[in-house]
Amino acid sequence: MPTVTINNKQYEFNPGETIIDVAERNGIHIPHYCWHPRLSVSGNCRMCLVDVEKIPKLVIACSTLCMEGMVVHVDSEKAVAGREHVMEFLLINHPLDCPICDEAGECKLQDYAYHHGTGESRFTEEKNLKSKRVKLGPYVMFDAERCISCARCISFSKEIAQQDQLTFVQRGDRVTIETFPGKEFDNPYSLNVVDICPVGALTNIDFRFKARVWDMSATSSICPGCARGCNIDIWVRNNEILRLTPRFNEDVNDYWMCDNGRINSFKHVNAETRIDMPKIRKSGELTTGGWDEAISKTVSELKRVKPSEIAVLGSAFATVEDNYALAKFTKNILHTKNIDLVEHFIPGDEDEILIREDKTPNTLGAKLAGVVPQKNGLNFSQIVDGIKNKSIRCLIAMEEDFVSLSSDFVTLTENLDLFIVFAANHNESTKYAHVVFPAATFAEKNGIFVNFQGQVQRIKPAVMTVDMDRSLDGMSLSRLDKFGTEFDRWGKSKKINSISSWKIITKLANAFGVKFNFETSEDVLIELAEVNKDFKELDYEKIGSAGVKLKSYKKVEERISV
Ligand code: SF4
Ligand code: SF4
Repeated sequence: MPTVTINNKQYEFNPGETIIDVAERNGIHIPHYCWHPRLSVSGNCRMCLVDVEKIPKLVIACSTLCMEGMVVHVDSEKAVAGREHVMEFLLINHPLDCPICDEAGECKLQDYAYHHGTGESRFTEEKNLKSKRVKLGPYVMFDAERCISCARCISFSKEIAQQDQLTFVQRGDRVTIETFPGKEFDNPYSLNVVDICPVGALTNIDFRFKARVWDMSATSSICPGCARGCNIDIWVRNNEILRLTPRFNEDVNDYWMCDNGRINSFKHVNAETRIDMPKIRKSGELTTGGWDEAISKTVSELKRVKPSEIAVLGSAFATVEDNYALAKFTKNILHTKNIDLVEHFIPGDEDEILIREDKTPNTLGAKLAGVVPQKNGLNFSQIVDGIKNKSIRCLIAMEEDFVSLSSDFVTLTENLDLFIVFAANHNESTKYAHVVFPAATFAEKNGIFVNFQGQVQRIKPAVMTVDMDRSLDGMSLSRLDKFGTEFDRWGKSKKINSISSWKIITKLANAFGVKFNFETSEDVLIELAEVNKDFKELDYEKIGSAGVKLKSYKKVEERISV
């Protein structure tokens, strides 16, 4: 294989690779703004200047192909001086906005000014003023003064989102970005340009001015918006989610996520509609109860119903652990075979990029965990028929808003003697439930989802609940009842008294006198891995941050259609 020498070390390269390709692959950082591994090379920022022996002038690493025997110096005196000159040029008209710029703290221009700038400006003339607030589309705001004309946004729009909606207009220091006449920058992936814009020229209207980056924590997780399961970071300040950003995973979502997932998949976590304590219906009214009361009421009522009269709905929104615990509870304690889940497909709402018709993150995982009708048991439509003809008198709906699925279902609830709902937010089902358990959201628990490709991926808690607060470990349920959202040891942050569904089920099982030995969600997964060959030998460490593909995926595809 041919080799190139970069910073005195030899590296192999494939024909057609540029200097920056080989450097990046080998962990050598060459400063750059416009180059991005998934976009075509535009070569216009000039920041990646490097010194190549036998070439008199500096060359740009992003468009210079490697050649056998080439010797590259990234940090020679000449290359460093070249980068300083580029920085000085880029900063001539750049406003001193850092104190009010959303990008501050994660801005390449700021970082490079520190590492590759001279620290002072020789420019004494008036800066070129441009528009500060141009709404390019529903989600993206443009500040023309901050733009360094790298063209990443234009390339992304055309090459990745496949919507040619942005272009440069004017020339020289007047150059700026515009949408084509009569067009908006409006496509399902528009917000990715905010991530790849190396400066604060493009901002997310939904997040603008909400927080400085250093005030937030970032937790790696998975978007629950569809069966793709894009890898994300959840950004939280004061226990409130402020934004989601994509996390690189070449096998799942590459560098991207869709706008719908980014904007709409977390708002319910912060919403006023959160259920912060168990609810019990008394004299027709849903009243706040304690955990002990809600659990003993549920258990005593369930004991009155015959197994064949009970139906259970798992959820493709819940984790594998939640669904496995529910399936085990259904089989071993309720002794009913009537268990199923509801699929949430929007036919036609899918593309070749990321978006999937299945609007849940875990249809495959829930089914594999055992939430499928058992032999001689009822499936979902048969359960509905059973409620209609009153052969089903009890329904447990875990993280599934059963009543909202059809306008007919409101009247169906009148046929139920016992309707148990696990929900994070008040919804149509909680209006008619007899007992409501506050379930933790995807952002408040550990667990795994299995995406449509059979990729097993981890979610992690980004938002603290009362239950998670380690200092409350070991406290009895009745003592926990004293807290709730008022409990606040960390300033103004609000904590919900919700619990992962697997844990609620464990408490129910234990109240039935059947010990489920689950202390943590990983205990649930470890048991599942022992009894279910699809999850064999899996644990959280093996799944890691990038996830793993189910070994049995091909066979699963044949067994289960999703
Ligand atoms: S708006 Fe950002 S991504 Fe677009 S050209 Fe300007 S600096 Fe580059
Ligand atoms: S494609 Fe699906 S998983 Fe990815 S961000 Fe959008 S909704 Fe979320």
